[in-house]
Amino acid sequence: MGEGILKDGIAAGRLAENQYVSNFADLHPPFEAHEAFVEADRCYFCYDAPCQTACPTSIDIPLFIREILTDNPLGAAETIFQQNILGGMCARVCPTEQLCEEACVREAAEGKPVKIGMLQRYATDVAMNQGVQFFERAAPSGKRVAIVGAGPAGLACAHRLSMHGHEVTIYDARPKAGGLNEYGIAFYKTIDNFAQREVDYVTAIGGISIETGKILGEHFSLSDLTGKFDAVFLGMGLGGVNALRADGEDADGVDNAVDFIATLRQAEDLGALPVGRRVVVIGGGMTAIDAAVQSKLLGAEEVTMVYRRGKEQMSASGFEQDLAAAKGVNIRHWLAPKRVITNAGKVTGIELDYMRLDAERLVATGETTTIACDQVFKAIGQTLATDGEGVRLSGGKIEVDDEGHTSMAKVWAGGDCATGGDDLTVTAVAEGRDAAESINRFLRGN
Ligand SMILES: Cc1cc2nc3c(=O)[nH]c(=O)nc-3n(C[C@H](O)[C@H](O)[C@H](O)COP(=O)(O)OP(=O)(O)OC[C@H]3O[C@@H](n4cnc5c(N)ncnc54)[C@H](O)[C@@H]3O)c2cc1C
Ligand code: SF4
Repeated sequence: MGEGILKDGIAAGRLAENQYVSNFADLHPPFEAHEAFVEADRCYFCYDAPCQTACPTSIDIPLFIREILTDNPLGAAETIFQQNILGGMCARVCPTEQLCEEACVREAAEGKPVKIGMLQRYATDVAMNQGVQFFERAAPSGKRVAIVGAGPAGLACAHRLSMHGHEVTIYDARPKAGGLNEYGIAFYKTIDNFAQREVDYVTAIGGISIETGKILGEHFSLSDLTGKFDAVFLGMGLGGVNALRADGEDADGVDNAVDFIATLRQAEDLGALPVGRRVVVIGGGMTAIDAAVQSKLLGAEEVTMVYRRGKEQMSASGFEQDLAAAKGVNIRHWLAPKRVITNAGKVTGIELDYMRLDAERLVATGETTTIACDQVFKAIGQTLATDGEGVRLSGGKIEVDDEGHTSMAKVWAGGDCATGGDDLTVTAVAEGRDAAESINRFLRGN
């Protein structure tokens, strides 16, 4: 039997200890001050800046870049936090190549945008490392708001409500706050316990208490909350996972990619985390990329991502796809799972249908192929893990209007669990913040 990456089956300790450290190090090491100056100097400070329009939280990007250039990183951080109190995390995880940096005029002119995300990280790191707080609470309003979910949507909502003087209680099912910032985002994008440091930074404004291990639908109901609080915000994300709908999907070795990533994010010793020698990841989004890349970084010998449509239809950005390829992940298109092949209950391979489009419909061609593997990760999308507790659903999500208001009086929703978003951290922040403004108008009767 082989050792290290050649160990058959699902095994831990495939790499030497120091390899885990280098494999999971910061993906983009932060700018030094002089690098930030040089990069900030590339900005044209455009009028009606397209980068700002492309940002879901509408950060005044030219202003904060100018503040960096004038050696005022704290001013830059304040500009960022005014719009996005989780600007530190967004600087690390936003697909900037699809948002602000794609819109940057220097991208159009020379294919080299201003590195807005890196500059945002530089400014927010300065403020957070110094513990500088920019916002104070208004006089107490006497109103109490309950929030379900301490992810980006819930935290952004809580901070804005607290600024307006309301008292906030956040309930979260997990042992730690942060949502997918703590349990989902790839390890190498948010090192050094940044997610928890950010939760502490956001809640330092005061007036926000977080109760972990409290599950809506189990420990309390929505009507309990509407009875006890003046308003409720639902920001519970998408806790369920779509099924593969392939024979053998219950076999030993077929795992949910989101659970694998959550375990990885909480691991104290990455060397103790088991991973297959040959891994297949089913899906074409960010979760699939993260599961594939991190399997490779844990020492899997072969990692193949399979997606049922073409490269252009993958929801993972071009940058993410390139990152996966650079880490040695093989991405294959137009393949859909047909059957998980097992021996004595364990995965030994996966049979896949070749797919094609027939008048816009995805159909199997009739030809199949097989990939030998000992672990299969499902990463084909998440679903709402509740029946909505009385709020109206639409397309499997909580239906909200432009202000985040649900069908129920006193109840708002935002982030991944609500209709309209694009399942990004930054969008969840924007929706949480905007719902808080709507709740504040409601509580103040205007
Ligand atoms: C693996 C993975 C990688 C990702 N990578 C990126 C990335 O690099 N960049 C990016 O922009 N986006 C990324 N995303 C998407 C991003 O993480 C989400 O869009 C974002 O976290 C949504 O925020 P949210 O607050 O709506 O929900 P979540 O972050 O999911 O938080 C919801 C919270 O609600 C709690 N909760 C759920 N049900 C209950 C209940 N019944 N009672 C009480 N609490 C409950 C959960 O424990 C959780 O803490 C990724 C997603 C995944 C799955
Ligand atoms: S589009 Fe680019 S150059 Fe113009 S303000 Fe934004 S970052 Fe600066």
